[in-house]
Amino acid sequence: MPKNKIIVIGGGYAGLRAIEHLAKNPHNDIMLLDKNPYHFMQTEVYDLIANEEDFAQVSVDLFTFCMGFDENVVFYKQDVTNIDFKNKKVITDVNRFNYDYIILAVGSRTKFNSNVIGLRKYSYGIKALHRAMYFKQKFEMSLFKRVDASGTTCNALNIIIAGGGLSGVEIAAQMASFSLDFYSSNNFLCRKLNIVIVNSGEHILKGVDEKLVKKSDQRLKELEVIIKNNRKVVEVTKSSVILSCGEVMQMDFMIYAGGVEPNHLLYELNVDKNEKGYIVTNKFLEIPDYENSFAIGDCTTIYNKDNEIISPTADVAEQMAELCAKNINNLINKKQLIAHKIKSRGMLIALGRGYAVSKIFGMYFSGYIAFIMKKAVERLYAKKLDTHSRKGCKKIFKD
Ligand SMILES: Cc1cc2nc3c(=O)[nH]c(=O)nc-3n(C[C@H](O)[C@H](O)[C@H](O)COP(=O)(O)OP(=O)(O)OC[C@H]3O[C@@H](n4cnc5c(N)ncnc54)[C@H](O)[C@@H]3O)c2cc1C
Repeated sequence: MPKNKIIVIGGGYAGLRAIEHLAKNPHNDIMLLDKNPYHFMQTEVYDLIANEEDFAQVSVDLFTFCMGFDENVVFYKQDVTNIDFKNKKVITDVNRFNYDYIILAVGSRTKFNSNVIGLRKYSYGIKALHRAMYFKQKFEMSLFKRVDASGTTCNALNIIIAGGGLSGVEIAAQMASFSLDFYSSNNFLCRKLNIVIVNSGEHILKGVDEKLVKKSDQRLKELEVIIKNNRKVVEVTKSSVILSCGEVMQMDFMIYAGGVEPNHLLYELNVDKNEKGYIVTNKFLEIPDYENSFAIGDCTTIYNKDNEIISPTADVAEQMAELCAKNINNLINKKQLIAHKIKSRGMLIALGRGYAVSKIFGMYFSGYIAFIMKKAVERLYAKKLDTHSRKGCKKIFKD
C-alpha cells in the first residue's frame, strides 16, 4: 500500500504538534521542512533574555526530534520559497518535493513598521532566536560595563520596550526583576536601570481579561517599570526614542514587541489572504481551492462563533494542529471532516522571578502559585519534545 506523503512546513508549536499526532499512523510518511535547524520556544524568551535560561533550554534540535519517531518522520533544513498547490509540489531554496497532503505552519514575524524612522536599524526583535540571543549578550555586557565604569556615581541604563502586549509585558517584568536581584545581590553601588514600556493603547495587554490587566499593571509598578500609555514610537536613533507626543527619551536598548506580520513566504503564495495578509482557511482549517492543504498556527486567523478573532497563541496553534492531524486522517480514511471549536484554554503571564498571574478554565491565580503553574506548563511541553530528541540522539550516536 503506498504511503501518504505529508509535508509539514514550519517546526514551531503548530508543526511539531501536528507531527506528533500524524506520526502515530505508520502509513504516513512525514517530512518536516524548516529554515532553522531548531524549534524555538518563544513563550520562554523572557527567561532567556533575563539570563534565567540559556539557548539550549529554549530550543529543540529538529533533526534529533524527528529521528526520535519510528522511521516515518524526516527533517530537512530548507527555506521554503513557494508552493505549487495545483501540482502538489513544495519548492525550497535547494529542492522540490512532491506531497499528497500539506500543512503550512510558518508562524509570523516581527513587523518593523517602515514608517518609523530607524526602527529596524536601532531596535531588537525577539521573535527569532538569533535576535533574542544578540540582545541578551549586549544587555549583559552593558550591565557589566556600567559596574566596571562606576565610581561614586553611574549613568542609568535606559531600556525601552515598544509594545504593551503579552511579550512586551513579560520581558519588561523579567528584566526589571532580574536587574533588581543582579544589583542587590552583589551590593553594587551602581544600580540604575530604567525600564519603560511604550504602549499605543489605553492600557497594557489589550484584549486580555480585565483582572489580569489590573494585576499585571500593579506588579509592573512594584518592579518600577514605567508605563507610557497612549503613545507611539515615531522615530528611533542610536541613543534616543521619539514618541508621538513629542517626548524624546534617552535609550541604550530598545526592544520592539509592537506587532507582527505574515511571514515572507505568504507573500509568494497564490492563496486567499485576509486584509492583514494571513492565509484564509475554512472551518476545517483547509486552504480552500486546493486539495489536501491546510494552514495552522499564527500564519492563519481563526474566528469564534461570534466571528471574533481568536488571539494567536501557542495554545491555540497546538489545538489547531491536533484538529488538522485528525482531519488529514479523516481525509485518508474517507471520513467526514471536523469543524473547529477552538478557544483559548487560559492565560498565564510571567511577571518576574517567582511571580505570575493566570486565568485557567475561568479561575484566577496570582503570585508564586501562578508562577509554578506557568513553569509546569513550560516544563511539560519541553519534556515531551526532549524525550523524542533524546531517542533520536541515541539512534544517531548509538549510546
Ligand atoms: C516573546 C513572546 C512570548 C510569547 N508568549 C506566549 C505565551 O506565554 N503563551 C502562548 O500561548 N503564546 C505565546 N506567544 C505566542 C506564540 O509563541 C505563538 O503563537 C506560536 O509560536 C505560534 O506557533 P506557530 O507554530 O504558528 O509558529 P512559530 O512557533 O513561530 O513557528 C514557525 C516555524 O516556521 C519556520 N518557518 C518560517 N518560515 C519558513 C519558511 N519559509 N521555510 C521553512 N520554515 C519556515 C520558522 O523557522 C519556525 O520554526 C509568545 C510569542 C512571543 C514572540
